[in-house]
Amino acid sequence: MKKIIVYAILMIIIVIIFPMLIVRGCDLSVGKQIQEEIEEGGIDSTNLEDVIKDVYIKVYIKSENKVQDMKLEEYIKGVVAAEMPAEFGIEALKAQAVAARTYAYGRLKKIYGSEDDGHKGADICTDVHCQAWVSKEEAMDKWGIFSAFKYWNKIERAVNETRNIILTYEGKVVNPVFHSSSGGRTENAEDVWEGAGEPYLRSVVSMGEEAYPGFETVVRIKIEDFRKTLEKEVPGIKIGSNIMENIQVIDYTEGGRVKNIKIGNTTLKGTDIRRIFSLKSANFKIEKEDEETLRITTIGNGHGVGMSQWGANYLAKNGSTYEDILKYYYRGTELEMLK
Ligand SMILES: [Zn+2]
Repeated sequence: MKKIIVYAILMIIIVIIFPMLIVRGCDLSVGKQIQEEIEEGGIDSTNLEDVIKDVYIKVYIKSENKVQDMKLEEYIKGVVAAEMPAEFGIEALKAQAVAARTYAYGRLKKIYGSEDDGHKGADICTDVHCQAWVSKEEAMDKWGIFSAFKYWNKIERAVNETRNIILTYEGKVVNPVFHSSSGGRTENAEDVWEGAGEPYLRSVVSMGEEAYPGFETVVRIKIEDFRKTLEKEVPGIKIGSNIMENIQVIDYTEGGRVKNIKIGNTTLKGTDIRRIFSLKSANFKIEKEDEETLRITTIGNGHGVGMSQWGANYLAKNGSTYEDILKYYYRGTELEMLK
């Protein structure tokens, strides 16, 4: 019993009091904060050069509706913890850390459009709008008492061992988009989003993703609801009475997803159907299950552009380094240190 109480007190110190001490200094300017930490003996002044080189980022924490100044490297730990399962191979986590850092740095330097971001002046938000982020406490809570320390240490290692490293293409910071599972082949960016795409966001084979529990998903929808939803979402659409005669896939993307599909009198993009019916991916097949129901089977999870996280894990478990993984999914890119 005594042991349990001691353990509980220890947990309170680690989970509540220690983070409070860290959060305390956040409103101070960077210089003041560093000086104060040195005076308190928290920082060895012989490493001052390293400390001053730290990059800071303003993060809009959506759940708390507040903006917090964070060290970029600390912020990245929370992104890796939120965006990738901690069970994944260390090299996959390192690849995720570099991708997350590159994206954050791109927003910090206003390389990506960020005018109407609703971030309250912050560089980045903790929502899927930018990239997910969780605090250390939330992450450890999610992992549970038996895995919390092991997983947090692993995330820290992934971030520390890639410290200040970002991904560039011909010297420019890239937009390293990623997704959960490509379903076997990633997408060319221009097949998913408007615009000319990027030379480093090209379709590549992505092996080993069948291990992903959500690789194939089936959803069922009443034919009547399918029809009504499309009539509501697509102005002018007219769908004849025989539903299956009114659905025809016109072509597929290089990544194997539906590119264009004709439904009734209207041609839609596969990505439109994905959005309208909240499908896991645009790699879908529509079949009639019975007189009243359609069965939609999807392969993969996410937009399919850039790095597949499950594909990255497969490569990591088969001996690839994080550099191999990043250069595989983002063709022609290089690793660079932040200047
Ligand atoms: Zn955002």
